[in-house]
This record gives sequence, structure tokens and C-alpha cells, in this order.
Amino acid sequence: MIRGRFAPSPSGRMHLGNIYSAVLSWLSTRSQGGEWILRIEDLDRQRCRPEYATQIEDDLLWLGLDWDEGGSRGGTNAPYFQSQRDEFYQAELEKLKRKNLLYPCFCSRADIMAASAPHSSDGSIVYNGHCRNLTENERMVLLSTKTPSIRIAIPDALSSFVDGHYGEQKCNLQHDCGDFIVQRADGNFAYQLAVVTDDALMGITEVVRGRDLLQATHQQIFIYKQLNYNIPTFSHLPLLITTQGARLAKRDKAADMGILRQQFKPEELLGMIAFLSHLIDRQQPISLTELTKEFSWSKIPKEDICCDL
Ligand code: GLU
Ligand code: ZN
Repeated sequence: MIRGRFAPSPSGRMHLGNIYSAVLSWLSTRSQGGEWILRIEDLDRQRCRPEYATQIEDDLLWLGLDWDEGGSRGGTNAPYFQSQRDEFYQAELEKLKRKNLLYPCFCSRADIMAASAPHSSDGSIVYNGHCRNLTENERMVLLSTKTPSIRIAIPDALSSFVDGHYGEQKCNLQHDCGDFIVQRADGNFAYQLAVVTDDALMGITEVVRGRDLLQATHQQIFIYKQLNYNIPTFSHLPLLITTQGARLAKRDKAADMGILRQQFKPEELLGMIAFLSHLIDRQQPISLTELTKEFSWSKIPKEDICCDL
């Protein structure tokens, strides 16, 4: 059974970019007769709010995107809110610890910036591994004054996978990703660990999401391998960008679901998303059933998609 998922962060109302990812993930899964799961990624307790999660469900249902498990609907893999899944992340963290892959990092963000580490292709900072080489003694001394974050040690090795849409992806793990954080100093688990744990335990077989996570996929696959879980297929989507070339974001008010719902009927918005993704060649209202028949990865462009709202 194909199992896809949508994993939004409830840090605000969804915008066109979020709903576009949801529609394409839903179409990819449903066109294969698969099950679709809704997981709420509210790890960042400061930025996420339950009201936004409720609003996400309402926006998905308004468009007709139904799900089999997850969110407030529950299911056999409950809970579907990352904020309630610490025990699962802790268990996976213990497994990585037993494999001697983890070490405490005492660096502040300022330390890391000052070490002028190179940037990876997605703009994130590559950690230079400073704390990997601390002696036990140095660690003891630092531990008495500071709570560290926990990093995973990444080998100097090639990583490659075949993306369902963008084809073969390669990188050198050490050079392009570096040792990354799996648990923050405040105790919160990092997204990379949480997303792998959840997709693995929820039996997800295909991941469809924006290509901003293409590079992070190497880190996630590394964790899958260490934990001996089956690796799902990954198919990344081109991003929606504004006429200025910037990625569509929450500040682009015209793309906010609240505004879009006032301006369009569900089938009109689906038609717009379908047209933007080249699934149909004229912008016209379309039902999800019709659109499922039109869906094909081969129609979706590789370049980012400019939308003039
Ligand atoms: N929660 C992530 C986001 O909102 C998506 C993670 C994923 O799809 O793997 O961008
Ligand atoms: Zn460090």
C-alpha cells in the first residue's frame, strides 16, 4: 500500500505554496490508490499554535483534500502531532547514542558563524565539527556550566539518492551537510530526527514536498540507514515564487488561504494550482476527481513556478 503524507507546521495560516504542496502530494498518493496521512509538525512550540492546526484541517477539507489518518482524526499511529511524540524521538535518539554517533556541542550560534563554516547549497550553515574532538575532560568542564545541543557525527562519505522528480542527487555528507543537531539545548528534538522517526513509524512510503528540502533529504536518508528503517521514495516539487523571484511566503498576503477562500471557489483554486503545475493547459475550474486523472509527474516543471497574484 502506498502511503503519502502532508506534514505542515501550524505556525500561521497556510498560503498558496503550502496548499499547492498538499494538493500535489494528495494527487500523487491518490492517483496510485494510496492512503494519505496528515501529520502536524508543531515541534517548535514557540511558533506553533493549536488554532492554526485546526485551520489547516479546515482549509484542506474546504478544498476536498481528505486524509485517512492524522490530525484530529487520529488513527492507528496516533498521536499525529509532533509535540506529543517526544517518547518516540527519545527512543530513536537512544539507538543513535548506542551506536556512538552522538556528541554534545557547546557552540553558540555566534561561535559557529565566527568559525566561518562554508554554507551548503540550501543556504544552511555547515557545522565545522569543533566539539566532536573535545576530550572527555573538556566535556566534563563545559557540562558543568552549559547545556549542550546534541549532534550526530556524519562520515566523510558520498550520499546519493534518486529523486522521483529531480533525478539523481549526490553530495558529500561531511562537506555539504556537516554534523547536524538532533536535539537542541532546550531539549526539543530537531526536525531531521523527528521527520524520519515519524515517517518511518507511520509507514510512509512516499514523500512529496517542496524542493527546499532536497538537500536535507541526504541527512534524513543517513538517519534512516543508521536506524535500519525502510527509506521512502522522495519526490520534490518546484517552488512557487513571486514575480520578484522570491519564494512565496506568509508575508505575501494575496497568497494567504484566508484571502484565497474569499476570492475563489474550491474548484477554481484547484484549477489555478493545476494550471500553475502544468497539469492542465488552460486555467479553468476542475474537480479533484478530474484532476486525479490529469495528474502525472512528467507534466510538472522542474524550474520554480512564478505566480503573479
Ligand atoms: N513541516 C515541514 C514544513 O512545513 C515539512 C516537512 C516535510 O514535508 O518533510 O515545511
Ligand atoms: Zn560545537
